[in-house]
Amino acid sequence: MNRFDLTKKIEDEISKHDLHHAILFESNNSKNIKAFVSDIARMIICPNNSNPSDNCYFCVGSIKNTIVNKIEIVDNVLIKKAQIENMIEKFSASLIVENKTKVYIIHAAELLAVDSSNALLKFLEEPSPNTYAILTTTNASKVMTTIKSRCVKYSIPFEAEIESEENELIDIIRRKDKKALFLFGNKNKKTDASTLINIIKETYKFEILVNHVEIAKDFLEAIEQFRVNSFTNMVLENLIVKIYEVI
Ligand SMILES: [Zn+2]
Repeated sequence: MNRFDLTKKIEDEISKHDLHHAILFESNNSKNIKAFVSDIARMIICPNNSNPSDNCYFCVGSIKNTIVNKIEIVDNVLIKKAQIENMIEKFSASLIVENKTKVYIIHAAELLAVDSSNALLKFLEEPSPNTYAILTTTNASKVMTTIKSRCVKYSIPFEAEIESEENELIDIIRRKDKKALFLFGNKNKKTDASTLINIIKETYKFEILVNHVEIAKDFLEAIEQFRVNSFTNMVLENLIVKIYEVI
Protein backbone atom coordinates (compact mmCIF):
# COMPACT_ATOMS: atom_id res chain seq x y z
CA MET A 1 0.00 0.00 0.00
CA ASN A 2 1.43 3.41 -0.86
CA ARG A 3 1.33 6.18 1.70
CA PHE A 4 -1.56 8.03 0.07
CA ASP A 5 -3.80 4.95 0.23
CA LEU A 6 -2.60 4.23 3.74
CA THR A 7 -3.40 7.77 4.88
CA LYS A 8 -6.91 7.35 3.46
CA LYS A 9 -7.31 4.01 5.22
CA ILE A 10 -6.22 5.46 8.56
CA GLU A 11 -8.45 8.50 8.06
CA ASP A 12 -11.34 6.14 7.45
CA GLU A 13 -10.58 4.06 10.56
CA ILE A 14 -10.36 7.18 12.72
CA SER A 15 -13.76 8.35 11.52
CA LYS A 16 -15.25 4.94 12.34
CA HIS A 17 -13.51 4.90 15.76
CA ASP A 18 -11.84 1.76 14.57
CA LEU A 19 -8.17 2.74 14.64
CA HIS A 20 -5.90 0.20 16.29
CA HIS A 21 -4.23 1.67 19.38
CA ALA A 22 -0.75 0.49 18.33
CA ILE A 23 0.65 0.74 14.82
CA LEU A 24 4.10 -0.16 13.58
CA PHE A 25 5.18 1.52 10.34
CA GLU A 26 8.09 -0.03 8.50
CA SER A 27 9.84 1.98 5.80
CA ASN A 28 13.12 2.01 3.94
CA ASN A 29 13.48 5.74 4.51
CA SER A 30 13.76 6.94 8.10
CA LYS A 31 13.55 10.64 7.21
CA ASN A 32 10.38 10.35 5.17
CA ILE A 33 8.68 8.02 7.61
CA LYS A 34 9.25 10.61 10.31
CA ALA A 35 7.34 13.28 8.38
CA PHE A 36 4.66 10.76 7.47
CA VAL A 37 3.90 9.54 11.01
CA SER A 38 4.09 13.06 12.36
CA ASP A 39 1.17 13.97 10.11
CA ILE A 40 -0.73 10.82 11.08
CA ALA A 41 -0.27 11.73 14.77
CA ARG A 42 -1.56 15.24 14.10
CA MET A 43 -4.63 13.82 12.38
CA ILE A 44 -5.35 11.51 15.35
CA ILE A 45 -4.95 14.31 17.90
CA CYS A 46 -7.00 16.92 15.99
CA PRO A 47 -10.54 16.97 17.52
CA ASN A 48 -11.88 17.20 13.96
CA ASN A 49 -9.43 14.55 12.71
CA SER A 50 -8.81 16.95 9.89
CA ASN A 51 -6.62 16.04 6.96
CA PRO A 52 -4.87 18.28 6.10
CA SER A 53 -4.43 20.47 9.18
CA ASP A 54 -7.37 22.75 9.97
CA ASN A 55 -5.02 24.93 12.00
CA CYS A 56 -6.87 24.21 15.23
CA TYR A 57 -5.04 24.46 18.57
CA PHE A 58 -4.13 20.75 18.46
CA CYS A 59 -3.02 20.70 14.82
CA VAL A 60 -0.77 23.71 15.28
CA GLY A 61 0.52 22.35 18.61
CA SER A 62 1.19 18.97 17.10
CA ILE A 63 3.13 20.43 14.18
CA LYS A 64 5.11 22.75 16.46
CA ASN A 65 5.49 20.14 19.19
CA THR A 66 4.01 22.41 21.84
CA ILE A 67 1.22 20.20 23.17
CA VAL A 68 1.42 17.64 25.96
CA ASN A 69 -0.77 15.19 24.02
CA LYS A 70 2.07 14.15 21.77
CA ILE A 71 5.39 12.65 22.82
CA GLU A 72 8.11 11.67 20.38
CA ILE A 73 10.87 9.32 21.45
CA VAL A 74 13.89 9.26 19.22
CA ASP A 75 17.34 7.93 19.86
CA ASN A 76 20.18 7.09 17.55
CA VAL A 77 21.78 4.46 19.71
CA LEU A 78 19.51 2.77 22.21
CA ILE A 79 16.10 3.72 23.55
CA LYS A 80 16.46 3.56 27.30
CA LYS A 81 13.99 2.34 29.89
CA ALA A 82 13.88 5.78 31.53
CA GLN A 83 12.68 7.38 28.26
CA ILE A 84 9.77 4.93 28.12
CA GLU A 85 8.92 5.30 31.81
CA ASN A 86 9.03 9.05 31.49
CA MET A 87 6.55 8.95 28.61
CA ILE A 88 4.16 6.61 30.49
CA GLU A 89 4.31 8.84 33.54
CA LYS A 90 3.57 11.97 31.52
CA PHE A 91 0.62 10.37 29.80
CA SER A 92 -0.74 9.14 33.10
CA ALA A 93 -0.42 12.56 34.73
CA SER A 94 -3.59 14.42 35.53
CA LEU A 95 -2.58 17.52 33.58
CA ILE A 96 -3.89 15.87 30.45
CA VAL A 97 -7.65 15.68 30.50
CA GLU A 98 -8.57 12.01 30.49
CA ASN A 99 -10.71 12.10 27.36
CA LYS A 100 -8.19 13.99 25.25
CA THR A 101 -6.47 11.93 22.62
CA LYS A 102 -2.80 11.20 23.21
CA VAL A 103 -0.22 9.87 20.79
CA TYR A 104 3.30 8.70 21.45
CA ILE A 105 5.71 8.02 18.66
CA ILE A 106 8.71 5.78 19.06
CA HIS A 107 11.12 6.18 16.18
CA ALA A 108 13.46 3.32 15.29
CA ALA A 109 11.65 0.81 17.49
CA GLU A 110 14.41 -1.71 16.75
CA LEU A 111 16.56 0.37 19.11
CA LEU A 112 14.39 -0.39 22.12
CA ALA A 113 16.56 -2.08 24.71
CA VAL A 114 15.19 -5.29 26.21
CA ASP A 115 14.27 -3.62 29.52
CA SER A 116 12.73 -0.68 27.58
CA SER A 117 10.60 -3.11 25.58
CA ASN A 118 9.48 -4.78 28.78
CA ALA A 119 8.63 -1.42 30.34
CA LEU A 120 6.58 -0.58 27.26
CA LEU A 121 4.72 -3.88 26.85
CA LYS A 122 2.07 -3.43 29.52
CA PHE A 123 1.34 0.14 28.42
CA LEU A 124 1.21 -0.99 24.82
CA GLU A 125 -1.33 -3.62 25.78
CA GLU A 126 -3.35 -1.60 28.28
CA PRO A 127 -2.78 2.06 27.48
CA SER A 128 -4.43 4.89 29.35
CA PRO A 129 -7.74 5.90 27.70
CA ASN A 130 -7.56 7.42 24.22
CA THR A 131 -3.88 6.71 23.85
CA TYR A 132 -2.33 5.64 20.57
CA ALA A 133 1.12 4.26 19.92
CA ILE A 134 2.94 4.85 16.66
CA LEU A 135 6.19 2.98 16.17
CA THR A 136 8.50 3.26 13.20
CA THR A 137 11.30 1.07 12.01
CA THR A 138 13.50 0.60 8.98
CA ASN A 139 13.72 -3.11 9.74
CA ALA A 140 10.72 -4.82 11.33
CA SER A 141 12.61 -8.09 11.70
CA LYS A 142 14.80 -6.40 14.29
CA VAL A 143 11.90 -5.22 16.43
CA MET A 144 11.18 -7.49 19.38
CA THR A 145 8.47 -10.03 18.63
CA THR A 146 6.59 -9.21 21.83
CA ILE A 147 6.30 -5.58 20.68
CA LYS A 148 5.41 -6.47 17.10
CA SER A 149 2.69 -8.90 18.12
CA ARG A 150 0.81 -6.07 19.83
CA CYS A 151 0.88 -3.79 16.79
CA VAL A 152 -0.81 -3.61 13.43
CA LYS A 153 2.02 -3.46 10.91
CA TYR A 154 2.22 -1.48 7.68
CA SER A 155 5.08 -1.27 5.22
CA ILE A 156 5.44 1.94 3.28
CA PRO A 157 7.70 2.10 0.28
CA PHE A 158 9.22 5.48 -0.52
CA GLU A 159 10.81 6.22 -3.84
CA ALA A 160 14.58 6.35 -3.76
CA GLU A 161 15.70 9.55 -2.11
CA ILE A 162 16.12 12.41 -4.53
CA GLU A 163 18.42 15.28 -3.69
CA SER A 164 15.92 17.86 -2.56
CA GLU A 165 18.43 20.67 -3.06
CA GLU A 166 17.99 20.27 -6.79
CA ASN A 167 14.32 21.01 -6.52
CA GLU A 168 13.83 24.68 -7.35
CA LEU A 169 10.29 24.76 -6.02
CA ILE A 170 11.37 23.62 -2.54
CA ASP A 171 14.04 26.28 -2.58
CA ILE A 172 11.53 29.00 -3.55
CA ILE A 173 9.08 27.98 -0.80
CA ARG A 174 11.85 27.95 1.80
CA ARG A 175 13.03 31.39 0.72
CA LYS A 176 9.40 32.59 0.64
CA ASP A 177 10.23 34.19 -2.69
CA LYS A 178 6.86 35.08 -4.23
CA LYS A 179 8.37 36.65 -7.33
CA ALA A 180 10.44 33.56 -8.06
CA LEU A 181 7.32 31.48 -7.49
CA PHE A 182 5.51 33.14 -10.41
CA LEU A 183 8.61 32.98 -12.59
CA PHE A 184 8.70 29.26 -11.82
CA GLY A 185 5.09 29.01 -13.01
CA ASN A 186 5.87 30.81 -16.26
CA LYS A 187 8.97 28.81 -16.89
CA ASN A 188 7.17 25.50 -16.47
CA LYS A 189 4.16 26.29 -18.65
CA LYS A 190 5.21 23.73 -21.21
CA THR A 191 6.87 21.20 -18.93
CA ASP A 192 5.39 17.73 -19.36
CA ALA A 193 3.10 16.29 -16.71
CA SER A 194 5.40 13.49 -15.55
CA THR A 195 8.27 15.91 -14.84
CA LEU A 196 5.89 18.18 -12.98
CA ILE A 197 4.53 15.24 -10.98
CA ASN A 198 8.06 14.44 -9.82
CA ILE A 199 8.71 18.03 -8.77
CA ILE A 200 5.38 18.27 -6.95
CA LYS A 201 5.80 14.89 -5.25
CA GLU A 202 9.26 15.77 -4.04
CA THR A 203 8.12 19.17 -2.78
CA TYR A 204 5.21 17.52 -0.99
CA LYS A 205 7.49 15.03 0.69
CA PHE A 206 10.37 17.27 1.71
CA GLU A 207 8.69 20.59 2.37
CA ILE A 208 4.91 20.59 2.46
CA LEU A 209 4.47 17.69 4.89
CA VAL A 210 7.05 19.24 7.13
CA ASN A 211 6.29 22.97 7.03
CA HIS A 212 3.02 23.62 5.18
CA VAL A 213 0.80 20.69 5.92
CA GLU A 214 -2.25 22.94 5.52
CA ILE A 215 -1.86 22.75 1.74
CA ALA A 216 -0.83 19.08 1.63
CA LYS A 217 -4.23 18.11 0.27
CA ASP A 218 -3.87 20.61 -2.59
CA PHE A 219 -0.61 18.96 -3.54
CA LEU A 220 -2.14 15.49 -3.54
CA GLU A 221 -5.00 16.76 -5.68
CA ALA A 222 -2.61 18.42 -8.10
CA ILE A 223 -0.69 15.16 -8.53
CA GLU A 224 -3.95 13.36 -9.29
CA GLN A 225 -4.98 16.05 -11.78
CA PHE A 226 -1.62 16.00 -13.53
CA ARG A 227 -2.11 12.29 -14.02
CA VAL A 228 -5.45 12.58 -15.77
CA ASN A 229 -5.71 16.13 -16.99
CA SER A 230 -4.21 17.67 -20.07
CA PHE A 231 -4.58 21.19 -18.66
CA THR A 232 -1.33 20.95 -16.74
CA ASN A 233 -0.81 24.68 -17.02
CA MET A 234 -4.02 25.44 -15.14
CA VAL A 235 -3.35 22.83 -12.46
CA LEU A 236 0.12 24.29 -11.91
CA GLU A 237 -1.24 27.83 -11.76
CA ASN A 238 -3.81 26.85 -9.14
CA LEU A 239 -1.18 25.16 -7.05
CA ILE A 240 1.07 28.18 -7.25
CA VAL A 241 -1.77 30.37 -5.93
CA LYS A 242 -2.11 27.97 -2.95
CA ILE A 243 1.61 28.16 -2.28
CA TYR A 244 1.50 31.95 -2.63
CA GLU A 245 -1.11 32.10 0.13
CA VAL A 246 1.00 30.28 2.70
CA ILE A 247 4.52 31.56 2.13
ZN1 LIG B 1 -7.08 20.23 13.89
